[in-house]
Formats: sequence, C-alpha cells, structure tokens
Amino acid sequence: MEHPFSLGAQWIFSMVGLPLENHWINIADGSVESLTAQPAYPSTRHLGVESIILPAAVNAHAHLELSQLESPLEVPSRSMSDWVTALLAFRRSPAYDAEKGIQQALCRPELLESTIAVADIVPLASSVCNPPSAVRRLSFTELIAWRKELVPETMPPGFGLSPHAPHTVCPTLLETIIDQDVPIAMHLAETLEELQLLRHHTGPLLEMMRRADPDYDPKSTLLGKRPMDYLQLLSAAPNVFIIHGNYLDDEELRFLAAHRETMSVVYCPRSHAYFRHAPYPLQKMLDYGVRVLLGTDSLASVPDLSLVEEMRFVLQQHPSVLPEIVYRMGTFEGASAFRLLHEGFGGIQSGSPARFVILRRSRPTGFGKMQ
Ligand SMILES: [Zn+2]
Repeated sequence: MEHPFSLGAQWIFSMVGLPLENHWINIADGSVESLTAQPAYPSTRHLGVESIILPAAVNAHAHLELSQLESPLEVPSRSMSDWVTALLAFRRSPAYDAEKGIQQALCRPELLESTIAVADIVPLASSVCNPPSAVRRLSFTELIAWRKELVPETMPPGFGLSPHAPHTVCPTLLETIIDQDVPIAMHLAETLEELQLLRHHTGPLLEMMRRADPDYDPKSTLLGKRPMDYLQLLSAAPNVFIIHGNYLDDEELRFLAAHRETMSVVYCPRSHAYFRHAPYPLQKMLDYGVRVLLGTDSLASVPDLSLVEEMRFVLQQHPSVLPEIVYRMGTFEGASAFRLLHEGFGGIQSGSPARFVILRRSRPTGFGKMQ
C-alpha cells in the first residue's frame, strides 16, 4: 500500500468550493483526507506551475462495445444513414465482439487516467458483463422495437435502459421502459434527418428503416412531430439522459432547464464535430440553465475515450464558456446527475477517491467566478 502523501498543484478545482491556489491534497489509503495550504505529510509531490487538478471525470455517454475499432468509421458523407450502414457492417464482421470490446475499453490508458465512471450503452444481444476495473461502468441496455410485436416481454437488468432513438422505438416500448422506474438514456434531436422524419414522415431515415422493414410505418412508430413529444413523456422517469440533443429548439431547451434535477443533456463534442453538425448550442443551453454533461460517444466516431480531450475540445470550440464551467460539466455535473456524489465522485473533499484529472494551463490567471 502506498504511504500517505501530499499532492500539490497551482490550482485545485475541488468542485465543492472556490478554486484553491497553491494548495495540497493529502492522500491516504487511496482516499482524499484533506485539502490544506501546507502539505500534511513529509512525502510530497508537486505538479508544478500552471498545473490544475480536477476530480476524475464522469463520461456520460459511450458505446464501449465498439472499442475494437482502431479508428472512426470511414464515412465520407458523414450522413447518419450511411454511418449506421457502416456500423452494422462492422457489427457483422468477425472483428466485432461486444464483450471483448467492453473489456478492452476498460483497460485503455486514456480512460483509466481521466475517468471514474462511464455511462455505457450496451446492445441487448450482449450479456451484461462487468469486468473489474477502476472505472465504474453504468450500463444502459439498448432497446430497439419500432413495432409493438418487437417489444421484449421482460426488461433486462442493468443500471438503466436506453430506448435507442425516435425512429427505432414505438410508444409501447417507451411506456414499458418508463414503467420500470430506472434511469433512461435516449438519443434525441441528433440529426436534421430525424427532425424531418418526425415532422414530415420523409427522408433518409425513413428509407433506412424501410430497407430494414418494408412495412415500417412512421405513423404508428413515432410519438409525435417534435422531440418535445418525447421529452414530455420521458419527464415521467426518475432520471433521464438526452444523448446529443444537437437540434433541440428553444422551447425544448427551456423544458429541460425546468426539469434539470431529473433531466440532463449529454454533449459529445468530438463526435459532434465528426458528424459535421450545426454548431452545438452549448452557450444557449447553459444560459437557459440546462444541465449539460460530457460524453465521448464511441470509437466509431472519436479517436479515443479521453474525457480530458473532450474538455479541451469544448474550450477550443466554445471560447465564451468559462473553463471552470467546462470542468464542472465533465466532473461534478456528471457525478450529480448519475447520483454518485454521495460516493465522493465528482468532487475533491475528505473521503473522495484519490482519482484526478491533471491538466496544464498556459495562462494561469483569469478563471472567473465559479458557477
Ligand atoms: Zn450514442
């Protein structure tokens, strides 16, 4: 067992108080004991000027089963229907093994170094394995049933359930899932094609579904004309994660802000850029008071599973958003939304696990006020 020691940095963002300058985290038995201006132990490590310590991150959306991919799928059009076609081809190839993918993902250094918990969407066909790991895996079993007859009779176990997306889930499945009273993650307002299908019952997603099922009927599958129809139904669940939400309108964002205790949006920054979506309305979401979390999405659209890289990318893409707000989205807000604060996740205080994100900052001043 490691001897107690004190870890120092120029800045510590504990997320449970103001940022601390030139402080020390005193660590014993893998847990934080205290934060002090002077090291409590003779054994010390200082990370140097311009160093920043954050709590370890919470990755609010991933598909670890796809982690045998060595690089994102080559899909020049970046259209969702072409990408799904390429994804399904990978899933049918001999290279694909969901359980191995999950195991490999949980050993990836960039995940272990940055992340304490990951919300993982698991296909129904793969059994819910939970290999031992320093990263807590919160599994959401993905359910797809665009007709009533396809709805499974019993719901699978796991942390939560994931009705896949509007075009692949019928109202009966959604209602059955809501009745389970468990956390729900659903892809919603992800593409313009999805909005087109909802509003007009036309477009590439309809063609894609008709290729899978010539009898696919948008009238009986879709719940309504807008993502709002889904948000209203989902708001009956105890804890809801809206994945992407790239094209939510103002009324839908206000609805989410009004339900922020139980409903969050998960922004997957580098995956969003891969699909060449319209700019993400992050500033507007934050201004409205929406709870925004960060996720990586899968290795089918990003090069690695590092939430640190996601935070860096957000800082580049959204210069109006203060760094500490971005850090908070990647750490405290995720831990809070997944109800992990009581385990000391998402903050640095007495009893928290000694798991941190370590950053370097070239500009050591001007952090602004904490939220
Ligand atoms: Zn996803």
